[in-house]
Amino acid sequence: MPNFIPAARPLIGDDERRAVDAVLVSGQLAQGNEVKLFEEEFSQVLVDGRSAVAVNSGTSGLHLGLLAAGIGPGDEVIVPSFTFAATANSVALTGATPIFADIEPDHYCLDPDSVEAAISSRTAGILPVHLYGHPANMPSLQRIATANGLKLFEDAAQAHGASLNGERVGSFGDFAMFSLYPTKNMTSGEGGMVTMNSPEIERRMRLLRNQGMERQYENELVGFNARMTNIHAAIGRVQLTKIWGWTEQRRQNAAFLSEHLTNVVIPKTAPGAEPVYHQYTIRVLEDRDRIVAALRDEHHIGTGVYYPIPNHRLPSFQQALDLPETEAASQQVLSLPVHPSLTSNDLERIVSAVNKLTKAGS
Ligand SMILES: *Cc1c(COP(=O)(O)O)cnc(C)c1O
Repeated sequence: MPNFIPAARPLIGDDERRAVDAVLVSGQLAQGNEVKLFEEEFSQVLVDGRSAVAVNSGTSGLHLGLLAAGIGPGDEVIVPSFTFAATANSVALTGATPIFADIEPDHYCLDPDSVEAAISSRTAGILPVHLYGHPANMPSLQRIATANGLKLFEDAAQAHGASLNGERVGSFGDFAMFSLYPTKNMTSGEGGMVTMNSPEIERRMRLLRNQGMERQYENELVGFNARMTNIHAAIGRVQLTKIWGWTEQRRQNAAFLSEHLTNVVIPKTAPGAEPVYHQYTIRVLEDRDRIVAALRDEHHIGTGVYYPIPNHRLPSFQQALDLPETEAASQQVLSLPVHPSLTSNDLERIVSAVNKLTKAGS
């Protein structure tokens, strides 16, 4: 029986293990120098020197970033419905209301026309997601934000290193969040990194992360404990030295799949976009469940459906909205393995299995 090809595989090497061990030996386990160095290195390696603040998860990063940007009760923030629930959850946790907009069918990111239609007198910001590692249409969203006096944020949880017109994601919005969960393009175990170029947002983020304290026991505001540990930062620092090699591998794997898949809708790239293929997502127009099951059971290939239920229809949000592109995508998308540890034999197995299971013209 051939080995099982998983949908994702976190890569942890001896160097990550040694870095963790060094922190354990040092006894400085909580947030300290490793976290500070991780922030500085992340800033240099991934966001062209913008400030970076590390937190204990991507979701905390979005939540605290929104609070630091002044979002709160009475505000509305426009988000895609076609994303992981953490995007809208973080808006709701501030006391603001997430307003769901539709996506562009080619790239699965927020549709600027749908965003414009969702603007009300309460709208305070727009939070696009660079879904699957493909940058959202930031120039159009920036124009809409400026024309309407709105803030613009970025959920870059899946898009470490992606760029648009030569500009890295994480440098467009008032702040951007990168997740460091194990299945993302790089990991710290759990964790998040928030990038910004506003010293005020940066300072408020640092306060909110640590009980509102800059100086110990001189609490300036009501904050959280959302600190990253030195243990997690040590893993992240090693992963930063590998992220560009892995990204290149993801791009090569995606190019191979796109060249050889014959009967499915392959991912499209917007002009000027350089995606990082957090997911390689095809559309299958019928029989998705059968294809998923056959890939798993007959071909030993793992896949993912991100996301089968749009956020506006989740029990946690329950909004009666008509978002046709979101509905179509949630029924058709299928993500194939694209992670950097795939072998050329794995890639050939994926292509031949998918081509066999999908009929020409379907
Ligand atoms: C993973 C993810 C998050 C949340 O990140 P965590 O680190 O898991 O909290 C938010 N938004 C999107 C689009 C994600 O994929």
